[in-house]
Amino acid sequence: MGNNIPYGRQAVSEADIQAVVDVLRSDFLTQGPVVPAFEKRLADYCGVAHAVAVNSATSALHIACLALEVGAGDRVWTSPNTFVASANCARYCGAVVDFVDIDPRTYNMSVDALRFKLEQAQLQGTLPKVVIPVHFAGQSCEMREIRALADHYGFRIIEDASHAIGGRYLSQAVGSCSYSDITVFSFHPVKIITTGEGGVATSNSVDLARRMQLFRSHCVTRDIDEMEHVERGPAYYEQIDLGYNYRMTDIQAALGTSQVDRLDAFVARRHEIAGSYDESLQGLEVQVPWQHPDSDSSWHLYVVKLKYPDMRREVLEQLRSAGVQANIHYIPVHTQPYYRKLGFRYGDFPESESYYQATITLPLFPTMTVSQQETVVDELQKALAV
Ligand SMILES: *Cc1c(COP(=O)(O)O)cnc(C)c1O
Repeated sequence: MGNNIPYGRQAVSEADIQAVVDVLRSDFLTQGPVVPAFEKRLADYCGVAHAVAVNSATSALHIACLALEVGAGDRVWTSPNTFVASANCARYCGAVVDFVDIDPRTYNMSVDALRFKLEQAQLQGTLPKVVIPVHFAGQSCEMREIRALADHYGFRIIEDASHAIGGRYLSQAVGSCSYSDITVFSFHPVKIITTGEGGVATSNSVDLARRMQLFRSHCVTRDIDEMEHVERGPAYYEQIDLGYNYRMTDIQAALGTSQVDRLDAFVARRHEIAGSYDESLQGLEVQVPWQHPDSDSSWHLYVVKLKYPDMRREVLEQLRSAGVQANIHYIPVHTQPYYRKLGFRYGDFPESESYYQATITLPLFPTMTVSQQETVVDELQKALAV
């Protein structure tokens, strides 16, 4: 009779399976026509000029940093309340990573903390080259304010929107890059839509998009305008910089394209589930997620903050033993052993640390049933009553 309710789960349809099978029967498993078609589809969906699909969001973050010429000694700032990849991408480029503490209401990078840190950094000559706001749980950061700070202090912006495809900010799709240089989405199976593994970087800059395309595939070009030697015939190519193999396969892109058909339906269902949690958790000793009026979340995660943080471990253990796979998002990145070796300490970003100690992510995925959701609420109620 055991429940097993995961915190997130992909929704794969017969149409998705057929789309993958069709590629398997075709001429190209990779570097065929399906990846560019998927990119076009995503760009149209987001209202952005370019989309560059890759094998993960981590790779997309890496090539985004490379395209913005992040290198040794540059500074990159992100949120401590994120997956480690948002910070690691800068480390891959040899940059110095720092963090900006979170807003206690949205759990996103705090604009006030960012402004304060920039003022200090200007005095010390340590301004960042790139800031990576993370749209935690699917809710956009306050991009208009961050853009204004970028214009004033001269940094570039990569949105880590791994949680946020299908979300909106000030009535525009997240991914439109209206306030940023580049936006990154993840297609890992727990995210809003999936390609198995995969990610994409969007941009309105043709130069940034081209640079990301090159870094995705060894910086090898067949475009004579990018070559030193133009006279060497049809099979000739040149490697013009140091790139990687971060390519997405056509198999993955077929799954992704088929998933995009249901993206709005997935997000609508996530809204319903979140709304229903909001109602049924009234009266429990938890704080439900606050929503900023400027943003319309994709509801990747539903995070509750316990009134009594001391209970967190016990509540999580009890939920899990009842088959409710509640989770934690996130252990503050600066407290990871790797980042502590780089000099960060507990206490450096107190809002993210106290947030972490008090919060639990409840299961939320589009195929979740009403009775599964009732089980989650019942079990949470029981665990809190202990
Ligand atoms: C999932 C995630 C990533 C990494 O995505 P992959 O596609 O697994 O590489 C990066 N940032 C955030 C915020 C994420 O949630």
